[in-house]
Amino acid sequence: MLPVKTPYLRDGIDVYVRGTEEVHFVFLATRTRIVLRIRSCLINALVWLDGTSDCDILVSRMVNMHGKQAGEQFEKLLRYLEQKGIVVQPDWLEQSGLDKLTVATQQRQLSFFLDLLGTPDQAIAVQRKILEARIICFGLGAVGGWLVRQLLGLGFRQFVLVDHDAVSESDVTRHAFFDATDAVKNINKAEAAATKIREQFQDADIAINTAALTTQTQLDEVIPTDISIVINTADQPYIGYTSVVLSRFCVSRRLPLFVAGGFDAHLGSLGEMIIPGITPCADCYAEHFSEALKDWVPVVHPVDDRRQASGGLCSMAVFSAGAAAMQILRLFTNEGTTVGGRGEMLFERYRLDTFTVERRPDCLICSNI
Ligand SMILES: [Zn+2]
Repeated sequence: MLPVKTPYLRDGIDVYVRGTEEVHFVFLATRTRIVLRIRSCLINALVWLDGTSDCDILVSRMVNMHGKQAGEQFEKLLRYLEQKGIVVQPDWLEQSGLDKLTVATQQRQLSFFLDLLGTPDQAIAVQRKILEARIICFGLGAVGGWLVRQLLGLGFRQFVLVDHDAVSESDVTRHAFFDATDAVKNINKAEAAATKIREQFQDADIAINTAALTTQTQLDEVIPTDISIVINTADQPYIGYTSVVLSRFCVSRRLPLFVAGGFDAHLGSLGEMIIPGITPCADCYAEHFSEALKDWVPVVHPVDDRRQASGGLCSMAVFSAGAAAMQILRLFTNEGTTVGGRGEMLFERYRLDTFTVERRPDCLICSNI
């Protein structure tokens, strides 16, 4: 007896037949293709899987038409198709145990998870993990803002937003949440973002912190104990610096940290996921770059604060944030991140440049994990 009572061949999967005994199942969202060589009577029976007939009745029909052996093969095929997420119960979303709002709003995402992970149980478990997670985001600039917006789209609902800066006119054109009034009134970025999020996502639980991240900051007072992942897009005084501070704290707490954004060079960048004990930490990255750039001697620049004039596009911030959101989702789907690395989308060449960074065996921060 199969758990799928009335088997339904999902709409997200195309089926092609080559010859009479070769059938291809193509997952539209992931491009995964499963090829089976089976008897033509079994291929012909795929049209029966419309979710309206009881599994036992379908197997009996196969026995009546093609004999006992075909019936056994059909049952085996159904088990296999169920195991691969090709055949499901037609009302699997309604039976998921997720609240109605989540089912209604995340239907397409849940189908994508099903393509990706194989079974309704796994897809539902990831969505539930997302709903229960709490995220802290340092920095609500263009990349941080778009990243939080996309995480809300994925179904994350609990956030702590940290930024000491106020919205300025040049932020409005590049940001997911700010409008001209926020700039005129010089509203704090975390506060302005929280207000817009609460309007758009009424079930969101948003806390804010408007203190600046400094060497004096007691991170265990800022980062609550129930946080699932820390995000850093804080570029003041510099993204590399704030990342080292946060990474040391996160490594000691075994908390994942995602570093995205920052000014100039980091726009259009693929940031890095730091998983204590698995990937390089921010100190490993800093060490890597100080070795790689040891012959580069910076000349003192006549302009002290160059942040305001650094170039960037709204689209590059969105790109960076999109890549970051997908990396964070991979953590929740257990696709995992086992390697360290960075990348940049080079607009003028329309090319993605990436490279990997190794974990340092002698790193004082992360090597003993
Ligand atoms: Zn390290």
